[in-house]
Amino acid sequence: YADLAMYKAKELGRNNFQFFTQAMNIKAARRLLQQEELTSALDEDRFVLHYQPKVDLASERVVGVEALLRWHHPEKGLVPASRFIALVEETGLIIKLGEMALRQACIQVQALERAGFEALKMAVNLSVRQLMEPGFLDMVRQVITETGVSPDRLELEMPAELLNEDARAVREVLVALHDIGVCLILDDFGTGTCSLVALQQLPLDVVKIDHQFIRDIPYNVSATDVASAVIALAHKLHLTVVAEGVETPQQLSFVKSSGCTQCQGNLFSYPLDEDTLIGFLIRQYEKPLIS
Ligand code: C2E
Ligand code: MG
Ligand code: MG
Ligand code: MG
Repeated sequence: YADLAMYKAKELGRNNFQFFTQAMNIKAARRLLQQEELTSALDEDRFVLHYQPKVDLASERVVGVEALLRWHHPEKGLVPASRFIALVEETGLIIKLGEMALRQACIQVQALERAGFEALKMAVNLSVRQLMEPGFLDMVRQVITETGVSPDRLELEMPAELLNEDARAVREVLVALHDIGVCLILDDFGTGTCSLVALQQLPLDVVKIDHQFIRDIPYNVSATDVASAVIALAHKLHLTVVAEGVETPQQLSFVKSSGCTQCQGNLFSYPLDEDTLIGFLIRQYEKPLIS
């Protein structure tokens, strides 16, 4: 029996192992395929930016837009960033794609200026990988010079997880960006872990309260309490607060009453392609955004 059990165990073990490697292979193969798809999409210029309006809560006007990457997929249609950005970062493609996005956003802000929207700010998202890349600052300076955009029209949104990187390196990059004259926004504020001491010592101008905090307002009382606390904390740190993911009038009145300066979300507008954006900007002067 012992021999038989041993034999069975070996057999089972081997089968499990085979099963395991096969599953791994399928996963790896799928990843490789997606990676190849993304690489050729980049070569074929299949990535575009859409722009989501940011509304100033005091004036109830659009004061800026956030550029968000979209992938024109031959079969899947328009794919949002949330579906591919992680892989783009893992594979390092973000370095090239990120530069393209920054350049396109700078070109777009100039186009908006020519269309009569001289004061609109353009926010561009950055990933940790981009910010920590040795050539990053030179790339930003180069794109700004090349496109002729005024740095004070540009906002850079960086993920809160950046604060988990080497503090000195992060500080150096942010100070240099601040010296260029761009506005620095900490995205996804309140998610993950980040040192509040570090946060206070960095030249950040704005924090964006993550949409996870807004999502369950007002029906979930503890979610509402947590959102209030996160917003109050940001104010204590003398940071301007922007709320994202605002979808309902109740959420809007909450972010207004808790002292957020700007707000963004599907209640006002989904991210729009450049032509639809211009139409939206013109129409806001004809009818109020918030009724
Ligand atoms: P994020 O910067 O926090 O952007 C907000 C996300 O929430 C966007 O998803 C946006 O489409 C979505 N959103 C906007 N309003 C609402 C709303 O009312 N409700 C809900 N549920 N969602 C809303 P998206 O476009 O899929 O982007 C996901 C993330 O990908 C972004 O999060 C950002 O971190 C990253 N990303 C997007 N574009 C770029 C880029 O050009 N470069 C880099 N490095 N990252 C980017
Ligand atoms: Mg963002
Ligand atoms: Mg965000
Ligand atoms: Mg977010």
